Amino acid sequence: MKLIYTIILLIGVTVLQRCGAGETKRNQQQKISQQPIINPSVASVFAIQKLNQAPVLCYHNIHDVTIGAGSDYTVSTNAFKAQVKILADSGYHTILPAQLWTYLIDGTPLPPKPIMFTFDDTHREHYSIAALELEKYGFKGVFFIMTVCVGKPGYMTAGQLKALSEKGHIIGGHTWDHFDLRTLHDKDWVVQLDKPNLYLEKIIGKPVQSFAYPFGAWNDAAIDELKKRGIKEAFQLSGKQSEKEPLYTIRRILVAGNWSTKQLLSAIKTSFK
Ligand SMILES: [Zn+2]
Repeated sequence: MKLIYTIILLIGVTVLQRCGAGETKRNQQQKISQQPIINPSVASVFAIQKLNQAPVLCYHNIHDVTIGAGSDYTVSTNAFKAQVKILADSGYHTILPAQLWTYLIDGTPLPPKPIMFTFDDTHREHYSIAALELEKYGFKGVFFIMTVCVGKPGYMTAGQLKALSEKGHIIGGHTWDHFDLRTLHDKDWVVQLDKPNLYLEKIIGKPVQSFAYPFGAWNDAAIDELKKRGIKEAFQLSGKQSEKEPLYTIRRILVAGNWSTKQLLSAIKTSFK
């Protein structure tokens, strides 16, 4: 059965690679380097349904508040440090979007106990606390950037984004000023996707290929716009993954500020099966 599944998948990917050669290329001005984009929709549905979901964690604010006093959007510095430590001590290995993509597309194995750390909204503590803590354990993270904030008080600077990228972390898009993609029309896409991605690519000197939906909100039109711009995978929150577009509706869980490390481990197991 596994052999049949592998053969079907390989045929599907080959066909899609050929079809992909004729796809409209993204505006060269917007890409520093361009790899062929495979539309994975058809091939990957079959694959993804057969594979377990790798856990993806989502953080926003990390502040010096008392453990347990945070909200869904604020985790204390000490709680965050304890969470990273327990995951390292429990044998988890961080993965990045490109690894998840190849795993979902062709079954390339992930390391044992994979986990992805993602950070939304450009907060300065993502650089000053989160990345430093991850690096203590050889971990890497994914940082989704709302570009209107870059360089503003309380947010990361362009230099910090570049430093994160150079250290092997991933910089992804999160629009210019956090609009719900379901409400965008025509020229809005230039403001919310084209310009922010170009801006980030100039800073880090690499293509931006990952995206997180503001509010976790997506629809088919938004997915089409992301595909046109070379985005290879997009992350929502804990809503249901689309069977038609699994790579553009990757699920994440918000790590609640009042979770103990035990609750975090339990949530990872129950939310990603
Ligand atoms: Zn956000």
